Formats: sequence, C-alpha cells, structure tokens
Amino acid sequence: AQEFLQNSEKLALVGQLAAGIAHEIRNPLTSLKGFVQLMQKDGMRKAEYFSIMSSELVRIELIVNELLVLAKPHEAAFETRDLSNLVSHVVALLETEAILRKVMIQVIFETEMPMIRCDENHLKQAFINFLKNGIEAMQGGGEIVVRLRCKDNRAVIRFEDNGVGIPPHQLARLGEAFFTTKESGTGLGLMVSRRIIENHRGTLRLTSVLGQGTTVEVSLPVHG
Ligand code: ADP
Ligand code: MG
Repeated sequence: AQEFLQNSEKLALVGQLAAGIAHEIRNPLTSLKGFVQLMQKDGMRKAEYFSIMSSELVRIELIVNELLVLAKPHEAAFETRDLSNLVSHVVALLETEAILRKVMIQVIFETEMPMIRCDENHLKQAFINFLKNGIEAMQGGGEIVVRLRCKDNRAVIRFEDNGVGIPPHQLARLGEAFFTTKESGTGLGLMVSRRIIENHRGTLRLTSVLGQGTTVEVSLPVHG
C-alpha cells in the first residue's frame, strides 16, 4: 500500500507539472497563431508582427531549455573542475547585463577553492539563475557579493544581494514549478537549479529579509 501511495503521489506531481508546462507553452503558442492569422489578412504590418512573434518564440525556447535539464538528469556529464574558474566565468558572462542594470558583482574568495566533480554546463546554469534573480531583485541597481569558501570537505558558495527580499509566505513557495512574482518570469529557475544542485549531492538554502536582501547558499562536496 505504501508503495502504491508513493507512486500515485508521484503521478499527481507529474500531472501537475505537465499541466503547468502545457499552460505556459500554450499562451505564447496562442499568440503566435493569432499573429499568423493576422498576417494572412493584413500583410502591411509584418515587421511589427514579426518582432512580437519572435519574442513569443524566445519565451517558448526559454521554457523548453530550462525543462530539458529536468528531463535528462542522467545525461549529466561529470568532470573534475576548478570551482574558482567556474564561478569567475559565470560572473564574467553576466558582467554586461549587470553593468546595464547598475549592479556591481563582487567575488570574494575567503579560502583556496577545491576541485569538484560537476556537470559544468548544468552548474553554470544554476549559478546564472541565482545571479539573474539577484540582479532582477535590484531594480534601481545595487551590489551582489559572491562569497566562496571551503570548509569540512564542502565548498560553500553564497550569492548575497541587497534587493527587495522575499516575504515569508513566498519563501515557502520557492522552487515550486511556475511560481513567479515577475511579469515575464518563468518560475522555473529555482526548481531547475535546486534539481541541479541535488544531482551534485549538494544542498541549497535561501534566506531573505524583506526590504534588505536575499542570500542563496550552495554547498557542494569536494572532490577527493
Ligand atoms: P523567475 O525568476 O522566472 O520568477 P525563479 O524560479 O528564478 O523564477 O524565482 C521564483 C521567484 O522567487 C521569483 O519570481 C522571485 O519572486 C523570487 N526570488 C528568487 N530569487 C530572488 C532574489 N534573489 N530576491 C528576491 N526574490 C527572489
Ligand atoms: Mg529566475
């Protein structure tokens, strides 16, 4: 009976996720279909239609790309990597966006950082998600501190922002699929990132003070 219950719970979860995905993808699809019909009637405003259609396509692509990580965890390719390089690379990737939004990203190495076993692309995607959330939480600009240290055979990476923060009742819902407070958010970033960290036998912890900021703490096992 126990096992049966567990299975039907799993099925219910799969159903919820499927419903969510279908819903999220149907919206941009409906919009695309509408614009195709409009273009058949009125070819004059093609350029305008194309730009809206293109942004709807980008949205579908974003959702599908984020979900692919969940769909294929067994395809993760684990390799030995230098965590310092990996974090520095991710910060460099987001530098331009950060500057545009008046956000400064500071990286502080509190200790020497170890090698870890990881799927580089997946782990980068998780770190990018945390940094992007931080940037998006500071509409008027601000600072993100990325703090790294190695302790007791764990590598700990903290992403600290001084953004809007998260109210307690929302904190409990984080990581739920499609939970977003942003107008054009997918609400998939944290769910996917948590899965990625768990696939690395790591842990993820979010703490937040409303109006003061949020800290995302990732802890990963050290290699060897
Ligand atoms: P999205 O960014 O598409 O909304 P996420 O799963 O990345 O989806 O985040 C879900 C929600 O969690 C966000 O909409 C936001 O409300 C909240 N959140 C996540 N990170 C932060 C942060 N650093 N500061 C404030 N709120 C955050
Ligand atoms: Mg996000």
